Amino acid sequence: MRAVAVAGTAVAALACAMTAMTEVDDAAYAARHEAMVREQIEARGVRDPATLAAMRAVPRHLFVPERLRAEAYADYPLPIGHGQTISQPYIVAFMTEAAGVQPGETVLEVGTGSGYQAAVLAKIAARVFSIEIVAPLAAESRRLLAELGYRNVEVRAGDGYAGWPEHAPFDAILVTAAAPRLPEPLLAQLAEGGRLVIPVGDDVQEMLIVTRRGGRLEQHRSIPVRFVPMTGEVRRPPR
Ligand code: SAH
Repeated sequence: MRAVAVAGTAVAALACAMTAMTEVDDAAYAARHEAMVREQIEARGVRDPATLAAMRAVPRHLFVPERLRAEAYADYPLPIGHGQTISQPYIVAFMTEAAGVQPGETVLEVGTGSGYQAAVLAKIAARVFSIEIVAPLAAESRRLLAELGYRNVEVRAGDGYAGWPEHAPFDAILVTAAAPRLPEPLLAQLAEGGRLVIPVGDDVQEMLIVTRRGGRLEQHRSIPVRFVPMTGEVRRPPR
């Protein structure tokens, strides 16, 4: 009886210590998080209130490997394993704003990676579908997003080249890996008025924004970027 009571006390004390630690950590991250939004994102011209609110809401430090948490709010991408990266915060905000994601919309992401961009999108859109070609990354981001309570995100392992026809059409499609050309199936899965945001090119890419309007595809070129390559079907020579 006594041993149980002692053990219970010890566990309770430990639980307290852990709560306190988390609070201290969260306070430290909060300042860096806010500085990230102001100095990297607002300062570079992102103005969309929904994008800024989502960037403020999602705890980026929980989407990076634990040993890199101190750098989570820094102005660069970070490795997430399997040779992949979580994008620079500004790029996540830029793509979210460029895609013009609105409440109530259905969004497709190709390249789930850490799940961070998917979480940002999930704060604005009604439903987010995200495809990741590296199966362990898909499993890990699915687990993390569920644990953090993002109930409107679905992650699937596979090649995003073919999109996700069962849930098409999409109001916005974000591709977060560099493609050598525009993937036809993604263009086909854009809703009327839908936007596709995708880095196209080799070493340095250009962010392209393609909008479907009245059956026509309007294309805008924006900033130069550097993403990890999109792999799979898009690398095969077109037939
Ligand atoms: N959006 C991510 C960034 C991921 S980096 C984040 O917020 O963390 C790009 C990701 O695209 C990598 O994880 C890579 O494995 C994935 N990828 C590359 N080619 C792909 C394809 N054809 N289909 C789906 N995912 C792909």
